[in-house]
Amino acid sequence: MIDTLRLTAEEAAGLLERGELSPAELRRAYLDAIAERDPELHCYLRTTEEAEGEGVPIGLKDVISTKGVETTAGSRILSGYVPVFDATVAARVKAAGLSLLGKTNTDEFAMGSSTENSAYGPSRNPWDPSRVPGGSGGGTAAAVTAGLAPWGLGSDTGGSIKQPSALCGNVGLRPTYGSVSRYGIVAFASSLDQIGPVAKTVRDVALLYSVIAGRDPHDSTTAELQEVPRLPEGDSLAGVRIGVPNELTEAEGIEPGVKEAVAGALERAQELGAEVDECSLPRSVRYGLPCYYLIAPAEASSNLARYDGVRYGPRAQASSYQGTVDRTRDEGFGDEPKRRIMLGTYALSAGYYEAFYGQAQKVRTLIIEEHRAALERFDVLACATSPTVAFPLGERVEDPLAMYAADLLTIPSCLAGLPGLSIPCGLSDGLPVGLQLIGPQFGENTLFRVGHALERAIGFDTVPERLR
Ligand code: GLN
Repeated sequence: MIDTLRLTAEEAAGLLERGELSPAELRRAYLDAIAERDPELHCYLRTTEEAEGEGVPIGLKDVISTKGVETTAGSRILSGYVPVFDATVAARVKAAGLSLLGKTNTDEFAMGSSTENSAYGPSRNPWDPSRVPGGSGGGTAAAVTAGLAPWGLGSDTGGSIKQPSALCGNVGLRPTYGSVSRYGIVAFASSLDQIGPVAKTVRDVALLYSVIAGRDPHDSTTAELQEVPRLPEGDSLAGVRIGVPNELTEAEGIEPGVKEAVAGALERAQELGAEVDECSLPRSVRYGLPCYYLIAPAEASSNLARYDGVRYGPRAQASSYQGTVDRTRDEGFGDEPKRRIMLGTYALSAGYYEAFYGQAQKVRTLIIEEHRAALERFDVLACATSPTVAFPLGERVEDPLAMYAADLLTIPSCLAGLPGLSIPCGLSDGLPVGLQLIGPQFGENTLFRVGHALERAIGFDTVPERLR
């Protein structure tokens, strides 16, 4: 019996290498687990029964183009769209021998914090199926926790890897902007979108990062990595300086149980030899959300203009070209993309451009600068990933602002282009709490080292109690 709930990708690779398991047996174990648990959790939009690759299987968020496999970004407007090429990250995982298990659920166009905006129905949290798994990458995160994939790739614009990993109790990395190719990703907000790994351990995340990272000639915003990604080892944090931003610790709406678990993790860090001290990011919490919710919708309104019923997906019938486009968009887009397209178009319109988009760009520069200053004093910054544990399905769907607040703590470092790692650091009311570690640009190796040592000291059991 293969226990997919506990098997890490690294262990799975070991079993394959030593010939103790065949690739087909390993795949079968995951496909069986999916058949058993996914009807309840709905992590996958579709599975791929047949797939090439002799390595460890993987689930990919449905914003990642996969040649010959339908890719919808959780939207009706892309239903039936079958890419004729692989996104660079999909090509890289395939080249490394990983076999595709399927495409995981996402909020429509990765807009959301709960996967409830998926046009195909929400995913559920394996810790408590009446609660959300977070979003937009709730499908990938829930799949990893429930043993339906050893690891997966998500996309993070303002928290969509880190926040679901926190809510599902596993490890997620949003890499430095420009370290992973966006070629072939369904674009949301291009100056923010990044692809990154989700897994049960920091070492698995580091391994998968090493497969996908690095310059891609197809994406001019990618850079050559300055350091080879390293698999972390060792337990000491001697010499590591951890900054704890006051404003991200004291922000309104952070649950007491979350604060407690994060404080406990920082104590562990001190016991391992790290120096922990306060710091300040005064503008990031005050202006992070408003800044993001101008820049992201503005870029989205431009990126989503390509969906007109002519080039992709279904086409509604009307008597004129404009009528066809209008009706296709009306039927094809859900409420959240429509809201953002309108907001973004408004923010970019001639009379308002400087007042909204231009101003938000200036605020973004201030946020970048205050992170840079803090990271001159500290090796990493630490705070909670999400202000709350997983919330009940339906709680925030009618209240977009409450939903947006889920990303209060993840968004600032995304605006600054910095890498962030979320690791589970404890339970509050029986639900996982995530610790967010933020590093300097291309500081992934530092995040891996700190995350790995802490994860071992904390000893969090990633298997939900109800599935043990
Ligand atoms: N929840 C945020 C939003 O709705 C972030 C989404 C993401 O990172 N893709 O935009």
